[in-house]
Amino acid sequence: MYSLAEASQSNRHSLEHDHKKCVSKALGMAEHLCGVRGVKLTPIRQQVLELIWDSHKAVKAYDLLDRIKPLQHAAKPTTIYRALDFLIEQGLIHRVESLNAFVGCSCSGHQHELLLLICKCCNDVEERLAPKVMAALSQEFSQAGFVASSKAIEAQGICVKCSDVQGNQH
Ligand SMILES: [Zn+2]
Ligand SMILES: [Zn+2]
Ligand SMILES: [Zn+2]
Repeated sequence: MYSLAEASQSNRHSLEHDHKKCVSKALGMAEHLCGVRGVKLTPIRQQVLELIWDSHKAVKAYDLLDRIKPLQHAAKPTTIYRALDFLIEQGLIHRVESLNAFVGCSCSGHQHELLLLICKCCNDVEERLAPKVMAALSQEFSQAGFVASSKAIEAQGICVKCSDVQGNQH
């Protein structure tokens, strides 16, 4: 069941969009923004960003560590966490709290409010700005006198691609 979903995942991805464009856009934007802001996109930071952009799936820090070890033998968990903190600060990735994982962001280059749609089936995370939802929510927060520290609302479910596949099977 899982392997079937995995196999068709790559097909759907190649049919749906040219992911290389996502990657080059994200990496280009990261270089540009770091240049403008005068902060360093060190090799380890860039590698972590590239690994996160390997797909639109949420990636856990220890998976990043496993994959970065062959490239940077001295890499430790703290190396990864520091790189992740930097990328979050620069608005280049988002933390997915409910999965304790990370996804790339190429929409603004700033930290921003967002709605994350997390697919339980393929782990893809879709980011939506949902301005109306966010406006309603911040109104609710202020009525409650609540200062929210999280910028993201997360919803778990089945993405459109996975529900198509399930529909086709029946
Ligand atoms: Zn893509
Ligand atoms: Zn974003
Ligand atoms: Zn899915």
